[in-house]
Amino acid sequence: METIQLLGDEAIARGAIDSGIHAAYGYPGTPSTEIMEHIMETAPKGVTASWCSNEKTAYEAALGSSFAGVRSIVTMKCVGLNVAADPFMNSSVVKIGGGLVVAVADDPGMHSSQNEQDSRFFADFGKIPCLEPADQQEAYDMVREAFDLSERFHVPVMVRVVTRLAHARAGIVARPPRERNVPKKCDSPRDWILMPMNAKRRWHALLSIQGELLAASEESASNRLEKGDCRIGVVTTGLARAYYDENAPDLPAKPARLHIGSYPVPEGKLRALASMVDSILVIEEGSPFVERRLRGILPQSIPILGKLSGALPPEGELNPENVRAALGLPALKLIEAKTLPPPSRPPQLCQGCPHADTYTALNLALAGYEEPVVMSDIGCYTLGALPPYDAIESCVDMGASIGMARGIADAGLGPSVAVIGDSTFYHSGMTPLVDAVSSKANITLVILDNGAVAMTGCQETILPGGALRAVVEGLGVDPAHVRVIEPLPKNLEANAAVFREEVAYGGLSVVIAVRECLESARRGRKS
Ligand code: SF4
Repeated sequence: METIQLLGDEAIARGAIDSGIHAAYGYPGTPSTEIMEHIMETAPKGVTASWCSNEKTAYEAALGSSFAGVRSIVTMKCVGLNVAADPFMNSSVVKIGGGLVVAVADDPGMHSSQNEQDSRFFADFGKIPCLEPADQQEAYDMVREAFDLSERFHVPVMVRVVTRLAHARAGIVARPPRERNVPKKCDSPRDWILMPMNAKRRWHALLSIQGELLAASEESASNRLEKGDCRIGVVTTGLARAYYDENAPDLPAKPARLHIGSYPVPEGKLRALASMVDSILVIEEGSPFVERRLRGILPQSIPILGKLSGALPPEGELNPENVRAALGLPALKLIEAKTLPPPSRPPQLCQGCPHADTYTALNLALAGYEEPVVMSDIGCYTLGALPPYDAIESCVDMGASIGMARGIADAGLGPSVAVIGDSTFYHSGMTPLVDAVSSKANITLVILDNGAVAMTGCQETILPGGALRAVVEGLGVDPAHVRVIEPLPKNLEANAAVFREEVAYGGLSVVIAVRECLESARRGRKS
């Protein structure tokens, strides 16, 4: 059979297409973006593949597909699942119709995220199965398995990958595509109306299948128990298997080992491993999810080593070196590089980026104030925190800038300014702006309208084409204090004057800085 070279993300996408999906929804975010992009590029006619305003709306669209009896996948990065948490937690209570797969890409090492959260906790919290591939072939195969589980148990199923798997390429063998199922409205709508009477019944149903979910996990071929040397047993999960396999040939004897790729945690197999060995080392990427669980199910007398014990680092990524040390193997002799190390290149805005001109004008306008406060959000413009701009003071979560600026103004500090990109505004900025309108907050909101989700690869903003002014006015901002500027060097003084006027206004004002992202323009010219 033909081998295709795919990124881990692309293998998930191909797995979803070959599983017969009708639809895919998501919000871009590293390291998950390429799942949707690959579906958009390669899905056959008739498959809807669409970016959404945020992860919550994406999840709800996928839920709608399930209600309509067809398969769908929803994609997001780890912190995106926080945004989708409301529908996610309730989707395990309704009776899933068409299979629903939630593909989440975690980012241990925080290459492009605000924290190292481990989505396996979310799957456990929602009481649904989670599959964790160890390589690209498993990423492909597990998506198909996830759709089977979802339709068998009528719950969503999570597929969790991490950055190094999502963004590494390897050969996979695809299987014959499945037929798409025919749309058919859910025949028991009461199973979707989570009023207390129904919700209690459905909650009971979810709890009552937990034993079956555990049995399926115990029987899963993804959870493999191998006999071996009994001095130490090794548990690997997901990608951590690769780091163990790289070092295992150097061990004096092959340890007994359990690899976990399917959750709920297979407690029976863990107990079986524990019965064979004197101690257990848990090697897992992300948080000590299995290690913590083990402490509750094994006798206290068995030493458990891992991230909690200090055998492996509690933060950052695993790698062959730190796994080698945890296995008690001597460090390998490093080969010295003969070339000079590349010069360090801190991240920075592109030369000529419109955000640079906005920040220069804003800094000029705020220069006369003793203690101005500028809250920011998540996007390329977060780089405005660095010299030479030093223009912003926060980056917490999508949309946080507006609510935080309001809180700062309420506390009596100021002038209080919020800076947010157009895509982030549509993602999570509109509701805090409604709060600001309602409370007559004394803040100036700067919306950086470059028409793109630039940081994740220049996907088009959800409402391109200058809709922002109408949206902002529609949310209740006084049109007299909605201003539009073009951030260009030649407009520096005029733009700074607009900022000065609106900051001095003493109420809620919005300045929309409109200029296309240079990278988007470059890509547009190429296509
Ligand atoms: S990609 Fe676009 S928005 Fe990001 S720094 Fe470059 S020009 Fe600015």
